[in-house]
Order: sequence, then structure tokens, then C-alpha cells
Amino acid sequence: MLILVARMIIMMNLHNHTTFSDGRFSPREIIEAGIEADFAHIAITDHYMTNKVDSIPYDGLMNYIQDIRVLKEEFQDKIIVLCGVEIDACKKRTDFAKMPYEDLNKLDLVLFEYVQNDIWNGMPLWELLGIRENIKPPVGLAHNDIGKNFSHSKYDELIAVLEANNIFIELCPSLRNSKLNTPFYHFAEGFFASLRDTKVLISIGTDTHTNLKNVGNIGDAMDFIERYGLQDNLITKIF
Ligand SMILES: [Zn+2]
Repeated sequence: MLILVARMIIMMNLHNHTTFSDGRFSPREIIEAGIEADFAHIAITDHYMTNKVDSIPYDGLMNYIQDIRVLKEEFQDKIIVLCGVEIDACKKRTDFAKMPYEDLNKLDLVLFEYVQNDIWNGMPLWELLGIRENIKPPVGLAHNDIGKNFSHSKYDELIAVLEANNIFIELCPSLRNSKLNTPFYHFAEGFFASLRDTKVLISIGTDTHTNLKNVGNIGDAMDFIERYGLQDNLITKIF
């Protein structure tokens, strides 16, 4: 008798904004939506130090971390709450000279948006590597249009850089970060098809801002992970 054992996909949403930056909902409401969706992990990842949108100010980071830590303890029997931030990779909108790395190192994860994105003036990946050296928690590329932004890179070389620098990739199924009504990762299937059996980790995050239903809306990313057999690449194994 043939027994097929399906490899489990840990349900997570590691990209959500709250009233600490430009989100409509409190961290508590986001966490409760994550519990409702049966997730194992939920992360609060508000904007930090960008002048593009409402953002945690330079000196507001420790207060934010403290607040999320209290919730992490309160909900520890129901869900793993992670505390992260999202940093805008544009040097005109984010003052990297001021970045308080010691405080950033108290976070569980740090997302960078717009890396190597010409339209949004995001710094190239090679430049991020110098910043990444100062950050101890896992660093991830949020909703990156890899197929476009890295169209001049060979995927095996890109993977080697991501592995060497411990940079993970977020799958963002939200149409907020899409083209032709399709999430960006579908335009880089060659890249994702090469990730299996590499050390590059994958997260799922919906970049929730104004619709609480988005917290639970990870189905397309789950299907994608299953299609490419990326269950062993899930970042949840380190949390
Ligand atoms: Zn975001």
C-alpha cells in the first residue's frame, strides 16, 4: 500500500501594519485575526523611519517593541507573535546613517521593501548587504518583484548571495503588491523552482493595511509553496 505523506505548510502571516504606522487596526486586532485564521505565527511589521508614509519614528522603536512583547506573552498559548519592522530601502526616504542597530537587533525579523526597485528608488541588493551585516535578526525582501528587479541576475548567483547573507524572501499574495492582478512571485517561477534544497528561507506576508480579512488571505502563497515543494524552506522553522 502506498502511503503519501503530505508535508505540512505552517500557516503564517509575517507582514502586517498597525496603528503604529499606516495600518487601520491595532496589533491586538491583527493578532486576533491571525488566531481566527488558525495561524501558528503572526508578525507585526510596521514601517520604521520612512518619510513615505506614517511610520514609527526614529525614537519610537523601543516603545513599539515593548508593546508587542506584552501581546506576545498574553497570546503565547494561542499563537506565536513576532515583532518586526519594514524598512524602506530608498536612501532619500530613510536615513540609514541614523539607523539604531542595537535596538533593531531586539526585533524578531526585519523586512526591506523596494530593494533593487528602480521605480521606487530602492537601493540595490549589493548595497543592502553592507547594512545587513549590522542586523542580527533574519532580514527579508518584502513583496519583491524578483522577476523584474533581478532580471539581469543569474538565479543561481542570486541564491548564493541570499544564502551567504541569510536573507529570506517573502511571498506576498496580496494584490496590493502585484501586476496584472497576479502576485509578483508568479513572475519569478524559475527562481522559486530553484529554491528547493537551498538554504534560502521563505515567509508569507500579506502586507495588511486597511482590510482585516487580508490577514487570513494566504491561500495563493500556500498553493505556490506546495507546487514548488518549498515546505522545508519555511522561515517558521527558526521561530
Ligand atoms: Zn508593508
